[in-house]
Amino acid sequence: MFQLPDKILNYINGQFVESISKNYIPNINPSIGKEYSLTPDSDANDVKMATNAALDAFPSWSTLSHQKRYEYLNKIADLIEKKTDFLAYAETVDNGKTFKLAKKVDIPRASTNFRFYATAILHYYSQSYINENKSLNYTYKQPIGVAGCISPWNLPLYLFTWKIAPALASGCTVVAKPSEITPMTAYLLSEICIEAGLPAGVLNIVHGDGYKVGQSIVEHPKIRAISFTGGTKTGKSIASIAAPMFKKLSLELGGKNPNIIFADCNYDKMLKTTIQSSFANQGQICLCGSRIFVQRKLYEQFKNDFVEKVKDLKTGPPLEDATQIGAVVSEQHMNKILSCIELAKQEGGNILCGGKRKILSDPYQDGYYIEPTIIEGLDYKCRTNQEEIFGPVVTITPFDAEEEVMMMANAVEYGLSATIWTENLNRAHKIAHQLENGIIWINTWLNRDLRTPFGGMKSSGVGREGGFKILDFFNEDKNVCVDFT
Ligand code: NAD
Repeated sequence: MFQLPDKILNYINGQFVESISKNYIPNINPSIGKEYSLTPDSDANDVKMATNAALDAFPSWSTLSHQKRYEYLNKIADLIEKKTDFLAYAETVDNGKTFKLAKKVDIPRASTNFRFYATAILHYYSQSYINENKSLNYTYKQPIGVAGCISPWNLPLYLFTWKIAPALASGCTVVAKPSEITPMTAYLLSEICIEAGLPAGVLNIVHGDGYKVGQSIVEHPKIRAISFTGGTKTGKSIASIAAPMFKKLSLELGGKNPNIIFADCNYDKMLKTTIQSSFANQGQICLCGSRIFVQRKLYEQFKNDFVEKVKDLKTGPPLEDATQIGAVVSEQHMNKILSCIELAKQEGGNILCGGKRKILSDPYQDGYYIEPTIIEGLDYKCRTNQEEIFGPVVTITPFDAEEEVMMMANAVEYGLSATIWTENLNRAHKIAHQLENGIIWINTWLNRDLRTPFGGMKSSGVGREGGFKILDFFNEDKNVCVDFT
C-alpha cells in the first residue's frame, strides 16, 4: 500500500530538522503492537528555536491580507483532500482506528477545518459604537502573537488542525505539538505546508513528550496563548503554569457524557446511533456517551437489543474493510481500560458483553484490541460511573423519573456533552436547559456545525472553540474611542 517514513522530523522555520538532542522515541503501530517509526525526542531547546522562528514570522504573517491567508489555508485544504487515502492510511497505522473511519471522518474534517477558517477570516468583523455625546468607539481585533497548540491522540490530524487553522487564519504564528503517541499525520501536514508554500516560521511543529515539549510551550514567556485539548489532569497542570503568566487559555478536556433514553424515543434511530455514540473510534472520542440511562419501561428491550447488536460488531485489523472496532491506541491505554473493567467488576458490575482483550491471529496477535463492553448493575456514584475510561466501555442504568435521571446525569465532575432521546419536545428542551454540559444533542449525536461553540463545563474545560469564538481567542480586542465634537 503506502510507505510511511521510518523516522519523522521537527518542522521549524520552514525546514525539517532533527531535535537538538538527536534522540528519538519509538512510534508503535497499535494494530500489531510493534514499533514502525521514530519520533524526535525534543525538549525546551527545540521549543525555543521554534518560538524564535514564529516570532520572526509574526510581523509579516499578521499583516498579510485576509485574502492571502485565505489562499494559503485553502491550498493546504486542497492538498489534504488530494492525499485523503494516504493520510487515512497513516492515521490508521499510527492510531489503530479503522481506515474506513479515518477516510470518512478524520481526514475530510482536517481539510474542512482549514477550508472553514480560510473562509471564516474573510467574514470576521469587529464592532463600532456611536453614542449621543458624539463619540465613536471602534474595536480592533489584533492577532495575539505566537500561539501554542497542543493536541491529543484520539483524533490526531482532526484536532491538530482544529487549532492550527483558526490560529493561522487569525494572523497568529504557531508552535504546535501533536501527541507523541500519534505524530505521523502532523509530520505529513508539515510536508503539505511546504508544498503549499506556507512562509517559513508561520507554523512550527515540535515533536516529543508532553512533559518536555508541551510544558516548554506552556512555560515559554513569548507564547501568549495556549489552545490545549487533552486530559483534565494535564489541563490542570497547564493552567497552573499559564494562569500566573496571564496567558490566554482554551482548555478542551475530558468527559463522562450521559446518553439519556426515554421510552417514547424513535427506537430504531436511537439504537443505531447509540451503538455509534458508545463505540465509534473504540470509544475514544471525548463526546462518546459512556453512561447510558434508560427509562425503566424500555430497559429490558433496550438491553437485549443493544447487547445482541454489540456482540455482532467485528473487532479486527483496522485496515480491513469489514472491521468495525479497531485497536485502542497503545498498550498502556489498553491496560488502563482493562483495569477499569476489573474495577467495575469489583464494584459489582455485571459484564453483559465484552470485558476482555481480544487476541487476533498472526500478524495481529500482539495488537491492542478490546471487545466492546457493556456493564450493568452499577451505582451512579461508583468510580466506574464517575471517572473517564475513554475506551469501548459503557454502563447502562435504568431510571424512573425525569428528576432522577437529571440528578444522575449531572452528578459527575465533567460537563462536556450529553445526548437526549425522546419525541416529547417539551421534555427535551427542559432537560437540555437543566443539563450541565456544553454540548447537547437531541435525537442525534456528533452532529457538528462548525459555526457553533464547542467546549465543556465544569472539569471538561474552559472557553469555547468553533466559529468566531476561537478567532476571538486568537485575537486581542483593542478599543479606540474618538471624540468628534
Ligand atoms: P493528555 O492530556 O495526556 O495529552 C494531550 C497532549 O498534551 C499531548 O500532546 C501530550 O503530549 C501533551 N501533554 C502531556 N503532558 C503535558 C504537560 N504537562 N504540559 C503540556 N502538554 C502536555 O491527553 P491524551 O491522553 O492525549 O488524550 C485523551 C484525553 O483528551 C481524554 O481525557 C479526552 O477526553 C480528552 N479529549 C478532549 C477533547 C475535547 O474536545 N474536550 C477532545 C479529544 C480528547
